[in-house]
Amino acid sequence: MMKHWIADVVACSDGTQVSAQAMRKLAEYNIPLRTEPIRRIEGADGELTKILFKSGPDLPRAGLFFTTGCRQASDLSERLGCKRNAKGGVIIDPDTEESDASGVYVAGDASRDVLLVAVAIAEGAQAAVAINKAFLRRDGCCD
Ligand SMILES: Cc1cc2nc3c(=O)[nH]c(=O)nc-3n(C[C@H](O)[C@H](O)[C@H](O)COP(=O)(O)OP(=O)(O)OC[C@H]3O[C@@H](n4cnc5c(N)ncnc54)[C@H](O)[C@@H]3O)c2cc1C
Repeated sequence: MMKHWIADVVACSDGTQVSAQAMRKLAEYNIPLRTEPIRRIEGADGELTKILFKSGPDLPRAGLFFTTGCRQASDLSERLGCKRNAKGGVIIDPDTEESDASGVYVAGDASRDVLLVAVAIAEGAQAAVAINKAFLRRDGCCD
């Protein structure tokens, strides 16, 4: 995605091993990889200027994107009997947000790969509509 914004992109793994699949992808997009552990980053006037590694040359940079990882912290959905995918997200019906545990609706980061406030709000609204419909159906007020 970053290649759409700027051509000069370098990936840094900070000493962690990079999978063969990720290396192939980086090569495909002509993104150089620096695997050395990062010693520190330096800046001036509040702006990044360079990345310094434990070995090898410094890397002048004007911007840095990083990931902190993401995992499901609560086991509530599991205890309620909801099926979860390999990433720990609750598997839901995308039309109603209902999980495969009947009557359990899940919205927001707990259920999806797209981790955005707007998506969480939309899923909450969708779940509310589906819950209301389920009550109306139960009471014989709609099909
Ligand atoms: C660093 C960072 C930057 C982000 N930047 C953006 C951005 O710029 N724009 C954007 O749209 N989105 C951004 N997001 C994503 C956004 O924050 C989430 O998509 C959104 O907050 C999801 O809302 P949610 O209600 O599903 O979960 P959350 O906001 O995570 O709310 C879950 C709540 O449940 C509580 N909780 C967890 N376990 C338990 C438990 N066992 N018992 C009781 N309470 C519990 C937590 O404390 C938390 O308050 C960012 C996320 C991160 C981490």
